[in-house]
Amino acid sequence: MDILISGASVAGPALALWLNRYGHRTTIVERAPALREGGYSVDFRGDAHMSVLRKMGVLPDIERAQTHMGSMWNVNEAGKKLVAMPADLFAGDVEILRGDLARILHDATSSHTEYVFGDSIASIAQDADGVTVTFERGPERRFDLVVGADGLHSTVRALAFGPEREHTSYLGLYCAVFTTDNYLGLDYTGHAYSTPGKMVSLYSARRNTEAKAVFWFGSPPLDYDRHDLDRQRELLAEAYEGVGWEAPELLRRMRHAEDFYFDSISQVRLDSWSRGRVVLVGDAACCASPLSGMGTGLAVVSAYVLAGELAAAGGDHRAAFAAYEREVRGYAAGCQESAVGVSKWMVPESRLMAWFMNQNYKLLPYLPWKGLMAKSVRKTASAISLKDYGVTRPAGPAPRRRPSDRAS
Ligand SMILES: Cc1cc2nc3c(=O)[nH]c(=O)nc-3n(C[C@H](O)[C@H](O)[C@H](O)COP(=O)(O)OP(=O)(O)OC[C@H]3O[C@@H](n4cnc5c(N)ncnc54)[C@H](O)[C@@H]3O)c2cc1C
Repeated sequence: MDILISGASVAGPALALWLNRYGHRTTIVERAPALREGGYSVDFRGDAHMSVLRKMGVLPDIERAQTHMGSMWNVNEAGKKLVAMPADLFAGDVEILRGDLARILHDATSSHTEYVFGDSIASIAQDADGVTVTFERGPERRFDLVVGADGLHSTVRALAFGPEREHTSYLGLYCAVFTTDNYLGLDYTGHAYSTPGKMVSLYSARRNTEAKAVFWFGSPPLDYDRHDLDRQRELLAEAYEGVGWEAPELLRRMRHAEDFYFDSISQVRLDSWSRGRVVLVGDAACCASPLSGMGTGLAVVSAYVLAGELAAAGGDHRAAFAAYEREVRGYAAGCQESAVGVSKWMVPESRLMAWFMNQNYKLLPYLPWKGLMAKSVRKTASAISLKDYGVTRPAGPAPRRRPSDRAS
């Protein structure tokens, strides 16, 4: 089949890798002009995540690029270390910068997948034999299936399932991330400073050669253009006006950061993940939010199941999409559930709560429930039995056709 995937982050390339192995032809359209390298780290944990990465053949590359971060520190306004948050409290089996992961998945698929950057699907029209797709820039084309792997604000979902507001729920926080110099000289560690409803942190990255600034703030829903990065920079600066520690310096650096990323912390819930020949995967289908620590693992597991069920159903997309949902829906619901309530302790709304959390971190090494949190996250991440869909060898050479060959 000719399969179009919208979104070149994690879910899209992970799905393309499997579809290529099953002999399908894949095209990925990505709105950004090039691969997006931004974001902070993401974790994989437990048997389900790790076994899929192993089968994909990308685990050695991911392990080579892992962050190796140690304990993080909560600091006061003067930068004095208050309490260490032990690395094993949150860490998965392997942690990697999201941008490094996206690069690895892109490189693992680029010889068999046609990548089209700087474009977006504009319309989708299905009939009995296929889907006619128009693009904002490129010529109209025809595909057998269309997959939305275009994230929380999925265009495919909006076109095939209706407006975003009907399918997303906002969890009360915004997050911003960008890369800057490791000007505090952090050594495989991070420093975080909190004031009520806000947390700003700086983490060393890529073997201490650079650093990631990460901002969180609680807010009612904000009305802004998601493609207007200058407005998003203003919103962050407004939210952090008067906040101490390194916040003013980081806001100054934010103005020049090329990979500035800003988004709401939200979840996606849909009654169904497919409409005819259109199907969703990753955050577009079931975003659990970064608070779950599960979104990236969920994306690669879902991609594995979706491609596997398509193969198992011999290309009968109706049967395959129904089976894909049966396999993944309960698992995704568990991942989403794990994010509920996390914002209250991660970004405390009052000084009292922040003090309480610091005492908790201080005492944690001596408390009997040490490790319970990590165990519970691992349990959620492993709560799916994956079928063996029977493909073990990498895809053979697939001729790539020029866009003009396929324009209908
Ligand atoms: C730049 C960036 C930074 C991130 N940083 C973090 C982080 O620090 N921590 C964390 O936990 N999660 C982060 N995430 C989210 C994380 O990547 C996902 O939760 C998870 O990996 C699932 O990935 P996904 O591929 O389903 O969706 P996403 O990673 O959101 O990817 C969606 C992709 O679709 C593209 N896209 C959007 N609209 C269109 C369109 N109309 N046409 C074509 N392409 C489109 C986007 O540019 C993006 O590349 C980030 C995502 C992005 C895009």
